[in-house]
Amino acid sequence: MAKERQSDYMIRKAAMKRNWENALRLKERRPYIMLFAVDDSRDKAECLAMNKIVVHIDNPWLQSHLPPHNRTCRCGIRTLNDRQMEKEELTLTDDDMLP
Ligand SMILES: [Zn+2]
Repeated sequence: MAKERQSDYMIRKAAMKRNWENALRLKERRPYIMLFAVDDSRDKAECLAMNKIVVHIDNPWLQSHLPPHNRTCRCGIRTLNDRQMEKEELTLTDDDMLP
């Protein structure tokens, strides 16, 4: 069981690396990153705290807070452009509000 979890974690880590590389490629058109949690009872507080945080892709905070955050993390990232930010009424999360 522990082994299975470990490999899930490695798979998520590799998947996030690909997502991140993709986000960097889209950076000019989609300069914002939203972190999202699954937001259910299985999420750890650490992951729930990341839910719906929106930062600029160049924000150094991201480098140390990209998923997976822990062994059971199921968080993901979304890339966003200005139009989507406006449409979904999203704003950048203040630096001093970041967990
Ligand atoms: Zn997480």
